[in-house]
Amino acid sequence: MSTQEQQLCQLLLELPARHSYRYTDDASRELQTALFWCMAAGKSDYMNLFFPTGGPARNGTLKLREAQGTVDGAEYTEAARGQACGHIFRQGEATYACRTCSADDTCCLCSRCFDATDHTGHQVRISVSPGNSGCCDCGDPEAWNRPMFCTIHSVWEGKGKGKARQAPALPEDLVANTRMTIGRVFDYLCDVISCSPEQLRQTKTVESIEQDERMSRLSPTYCGGDTESPGEYAVLLWNDEKHTVTMSGTKSPAHAAPRCPTAWPRPTRRTPSAGAS
Ligand SMILES: [Zn+2]
Ligand SMILES: [Zn+2]
Ligand SMILES: [Zn+2]
Repeated sequence: MSTQEQQLCQLLLELPARHSYRYTDDASRELQTALFWCMAAGKSDYMNLFFPTGGPARNGTLKLREAQGTVDGAEYTEAARGQACGHIFRQGEATYACRTCSADDTCCLCSRCFDATDHTGHQVRISVSPGNSGCCDCGDPEAWNRPMFCTIHSVWEGKGKGKARQAPALPEDLVANTRMTIGRVFDYLCDVISCSPEQLRQTKTVESIEQDERMSRLSPTYCGGDTESPGEYAVLLWNDEKHTVTMSGTKSPAHAAPRCPTAWPRPTRRTPSAGAS
């Protein structure tokens, strides 16, 4: 493991305790800043590639979209021709799914791409986006089972077809560090989930809760691993397939026995997730 990867492991191990196991704005900012520096191999030059207008180095935005000056509507300009649309749906925006053209039920188009493509006689369904639910699939060859010509995004015949703009190669260590950081973060998520308490429906005792806590500690891969108890425990309410947390406080359907949501105590360590109470 490289020194940088070891430092990342140490950060992932120590950060939750440093913020008293609460995912506050400060904790979020510290985590994101550290992850971006890790991807950038600690080099300001690379950080500027991510954040040309500021970023963590200058106490600016941590949103790549803002830092890279993404303009609303850029996906519909002539510069976007030859690329996938990728328009991100806002809450309440109409999305169009065409059963005749799409490879599966999740594929959809934004209204402008739908208008710019031909679906005469096709089976089309219009939905309203709940927000945070994906983007327009126009231009993604895997999303459609037949060629679809979009007057905004498709390349006109004989107009530089096949000569897609080639991005300049990225420095090797930037690519390697980006891979390492993302891989390590996913490993961490899997490690935390896989060593979390499993027997959720069994009656708990003080001993079994303490045992669960010991079993959920991170392995020595993380700079020696967890060695101490977090000293604090919390109860989480989890949804199951029939009940939601909000339902537990309101009326439940008569046929549904109100034995859920499942509640069980668990250590607060590394579980600063939302949806808990
Ligand atoms: Zn399009
Ligand atoms: Zn689109
Ligand atoms: Zn269609």
